[in-house]
Amino acid sequence: LAGEDGSTKPTIFAEMSALAAATGAANLGQGFPDEDGPEWIREAAIAALRSGENQYPPGRGALALREAIAAHQLRHYGIALDPESEVLVTVGATEALTAAILALAGPGDEVVTLEPFYDSHAAAIAMAGATHVTVPLAPTDDGFALDRAALDAAVGQATRLILVNTPHNPTGAVLTRAELAAIAEAAARADAVVVTDEVYEHLTFDGAEHVPFATLPGMRERTITVSSSGKTFSLTGWKIGWATGPAQLIEAVTAIKQFLTYSGGAPFQSAIARALAEGDGDIAALRETLDRRRQVLLDSLAAVGFGTVRPQGTYFVCADATPFLNADVPDGAAFARWLPAEIGVACVPLAAFCRAGSATADRLRNWVRFTFVKDDATLATAIERLAALR
Ligand code: PMP
Ligand code: GLN
Repeated sequence: LAGEDGSTKPTIFAEMSALAAATGAANLGQGFPDEDGPEWIREAAIAALRSGENQYPPGRGALALREAIAAHQLRHYGIALDPESEVLVTVGATEALTAAILALAGPGDEVVTLEPFYDSHAAAIAMAGATHVTVPLAPTDDGFALDRAALDAAVGQATRLILVNTPHNPTGAVLTRAELAAIAEAAARADAVVVTDEVYEHLTFDGAEHVPFATLPGMRERTITVSSSGKTFSLTGWKIGWATGPAQLIEAVTAIKQFLTYSGGAPFQSAIARALAEGDGDIAALRETLDRRRQVLLDSLAAVGFGTVRPQGTYFVCADATPFLNADVPDGAAFARWLPAEIGVACVPLAAFCRAGSATADRLRNWVRFTFVKDDATLATAIERLAALR
């Protein structure tokens, strides 16, 4: 894994959060909320701790949580799942993704992802010894869009897995039904399994519809859906995630997962079971708050002179920093490392979500990502400081 992709170094999120802490910068880099999720859900975890839910939960996850995940998928998307065989609880979405990739891909297999991609996707493909092939999401007037010709060129006989991520980190794109249908067609043609990372499933804006990949015609049987409570309930440190899909695929993921962690987070599993059952109102409130903050950040970045693309989902706004670059600060990566000490704000370069030297890395070389999942005071401080760039 110690490769040219730098996978043994701290992640870009850890690096930028450390830089933000060292410089006192407002941290709009790493995507985690600085306001904890609902108190009643935290109280539910305390109650579970007190009532003795402190030993290993079952390897597949507490039954109450598996039932709540199945009920959530049915209520929101009409996806029916057997909690016994089609739901697996994991230590965050990260473990579900890594276990799925390790279970299904190996040397000689190609795994196709979008580019830019979330960092752990590439690391897990490298751990599996598989070959990473990418399909660009490119900025357009309407947001970041899938390059269909590149998709058709990327998916072929050697494709074992296609990794989808919608709503998409870092671009904030919510893939359209037509884009997902094109991926579905390619998956069927190559007889590939699809792993879909839907951790931002509830965080969509402007009326954009989140279309779960498993709901596309014919796709349920070849799709592993991954999500997590971290983003939905602003409890990222609890690391309660899950994978759902056909029994045979979930069994393969479980076979790996049992030797990664076996199980985790007993009292949190119990609390998230309740959150999924009773927390729809909290989810709606979070989406409204984030929508407002998204608009504030977008307007402020544009006013300072960044080129921006309006995100339809996630925690993130991508911005073109070209107007602020010069010989000393020549690209987005340099800008992200310069900004905390000089201006007092942290962000993340989009190059960190791209393969070194790829066409997408080149196209996005001047771009950075800012998160708006911060409290109003932090956002206001960041915006005030960014005005100094003008
Ligand atoms: N996938 C994406 C696209 C993410 O942005 C994140 C983290 N924010 C994860 C997976 C990891 O989720 P978890 O913290 O539940 O492991
Ligand atoms: N998903 C978060 C982000 O994109 C980071 C989570 C992490 O640091 N692993 O910023």
